[in-house]
Amino acid sequence: MAERLHTGETIIRGIPVSAGVCKGKILILDKSHHTIEHRAISETEVAREINRFQHALVQTREQLLEVQRQLTLSLGPGQASIFDAHLLVLEDPSLIDEVVRVIEQKKVNAEHAFHTVTERYSAALAKVEDDYLRERAADMRDVSARVLNHLLGGGDPVDLGKLSEPCIIISHDLTPSKTAQIDRKNVLGFATEIGSRTSHTAIMARSFRIPAIVGLKNASEVLQNGDYALLDGFNGVLIINPTDQTLFEYGVLVRKQDSLEEKLRDALQQPAITLDNHRVFISANIEQATDAERVKNSGAEGVGLFRTEYLFINRELPPNEEEQYQAYRQAAETLKPDPLVIRTLDLGGDKLMSSLAIPHEMNPFLGWRAIRYCLQHEEIFRAQLRAILRASVVGNIKIMYPMISGLDELTQANAFVAQYKIELRKEGIPFDDKIEVGAMIETPSAALITDALAKRVQFFSLGTNDLIQYTLAVDRMNEKIAHLYEPTHPAIVRLIKRTVDAARQQKVWVSVCGEMAGDTTLVPLLIGLGVDELSAAPPLLAQIKFLVRRLKLSDTQELAAFALESESATEILSRSVALAQRAAPSLFDTKK
Ligand code: PEP
Ligand code: MG
Repeated sequence: MAERLHTGETIIRGIPVSAGVCKGKILILDKSHHTIEHRAISETEVAREINRFQHALVQTREQLLEVQRQLTLSLGPGQASIFDAHLLVLEDPSLIDEVVRVIEQKKVNAEHAFHTVTERYSAALAKVEDDYLRERAADMRDVSARVLNHLLGGGDPVDLGKLSEPCIIISHDLTPSKTAQIDRKNVLGFATEIGSRTSHTAIMARSFRIPAIVGLKNASEVLQNGDYALLDGFNGVLIINPTDQTLFEYGVLVRKQDSLEEKLRDALQQPAITLDNHRVFISANIEQATDAERVKNSGAEGVGLFRTEYLFINRELPPNEEEQYQAYRQAAETLKPDPLVIRTLDLGGDKLMSSLAIPHEMNPFLGWRAIRYCLQHEEIFRAQLRAILRASVVGNIKIMYPMISGLDELTQANAFVAQYKIELRKEGIPFDDKIEVGAMIETPSAALITDALAKRVQFFSLGTNDLIQYTLAVDRMNEKIAHLYEPTHPAIVRLIKRTVDAARQQKVWVSVCGEMAGDTTLVPLLIGLGVDELSAAPPLLAQIKFLVRRLKLSDTQELAAFALESESATEILSRSVALAQRAAPSLFDTKK
C-alpha cells in the first residue's frame, strides 16, 4: 500500500531485488492493463462510444492480419493459423451485440462495456471441462487486451530498447524477454508489481546492475507517467516526490556505497581464501556470450552458468548450430583457460521463446521445460550439443543439463552427447573428447538420487532457485507467497548437504549457481555445508570474495552443523546473517 506523508512524499514498499539507488522520471509501461475507467455517458455520447468500439475492432483486425502475414513469411502458414481463432473472436456477433447493448442500455464508456463482457465470457470459458474451449478463454483475453489497447489509445507498446530519455520503468510485470531488450543507458531502475527475488527478471536486473524492486502491488494505480521518484533497491522502497531531506540522506548512502565499492575493487583480483586457508572458487553467471568480457574484470574464475536460453528468446526461429558455435567459441576464447559451463537450453517456466514454441500450460514450471523439452526436440538439442562440442576445442568448456529430475534423463542426455561425438568424429570435426558433463541439482528428486547421478557426471551445480521452489512448493515468481520462499528451510539445508556428501563419495565437484550463491547473508552457510564453488552475477562477486576472505571455515562449519540439527529456518538464517555481519559489517550498511 502507498503511504502518503505530510511532507508530500508517497512511499511504496516492495521486495528489493537489485541493489542501488536511482532517481528520475517514471515511465509506466502497462497502465491500461489496470485502469479500465468506468464512465457514465449521456444519450448523445452513445453513438460515439459504439463508433469507437467498432473502430478499435477494425484496428485490432488489421494488427492481427499483419502479425499473421509476418509469421507466414517466417514460419509458414501452419503456425500463423493460430491467429485464426483470435480473428474469429473479433467477428463474434453475439459478443459484439452484447457490448453494443451494454453501451446503449447501461450508458457506459466503450472500454468498460467491452472489458466487462469479455471478462464474463473468458471466466465462463475458463471453467468448462473441455480443453479446446478452455483455450478459447486465453484467445479471448489476448484479443481483448489488444482491443483495449486501441480503445485506450495505447498504440504500439513502449520499446524498452529505444527510450528517448532516462527513466525508471514501472510495470505490472516484465518478462525476461522484455528485460533482455532493455536499453541499459536509459533505464535507471525498474519496479514491477509482481515477481520475486528469483524471478528471471530480478536475476537480470542484478546482472545489469540496475536497481530494482518487485512486488510493488498496484503501484501503477497511484503513479502517473512523468512523476519524479527515487528508487532504493537496497531496501525495496519507491519514493515519489522525494524531499530535499530524503535526497540528502540518500546522497550519504550512495557515497558510503561508493567508498565500499573502492574497497571491494581491491578484493577483486585476490583469491577467495578464508582466514584459515580454505579456498572457495568464485565464478560468474552470464546470459549472453558477450558478457564473457565483463566476467574477466569481475574477479570471476570462469563462468559457472551460461544461461543459453537468452540466445533463443526475442526471435522467431531458434539459432542454428553455426550461430551457436560462434557464440560459444567467442565466450570460451575470451575466458580460457578459465572454465565456461554452458547450460543446455532451459526454455519454459518464465522464459518463453515465443507463444509458438511452448503452448500455454497450467503449471509451466512443472511442465515442458528445460531438459524435458530438449529430449523431445532432438533437432534443437542436436544443434546445441554439436555447437558446444565443436567450440570445446577452443577453451575450457563444460556441458551442464538443467532440470534433471530422474536418472533416465541424465543417461539419455549423455547418450545424445556420445552420439554427436561419433557424428563429429566421422565428419572429421575436432572436439574435446574429455569434455566434462554436469547436472544441475534443482529438483528434490535429483538431490535425493545424487548418489546415482554422481556416477555419471563430473560436477553438480545446485540450482537453488528452483530447488527451493520445488521442495517447498512455493512458486518463485509469486510475491504473495514470497515469505514462504526460505533458502534456509531445514529441508533445503539437508538436500544441499546430501548433494555434497554424494558428490564427495564420487569425487564430483559441487557448485551453487542459484541466487543463494550471490547472497552474502547465505554464503557462510553454503561454505560450511562444503560446496566448492559459488557462481553469481558478475556485479556481486567482489562482495562475495571480500566476505569469504574475512570468514573462517571452522565458523562456517559450526554454523552448518547447527543448521543440520535445527528445526527452524529463521534461526538458521539469523545465525548465518550474524556470522556474515560479524565478518564484514561494512557490506551490510545499506540503511539510509
Ligand atoms: C536455479 O534454478 O537456481 C538456476 C540457476 O537456474 P534458473 O534460475 O535459470 O532457473
Ligand atoms: Mg533453474
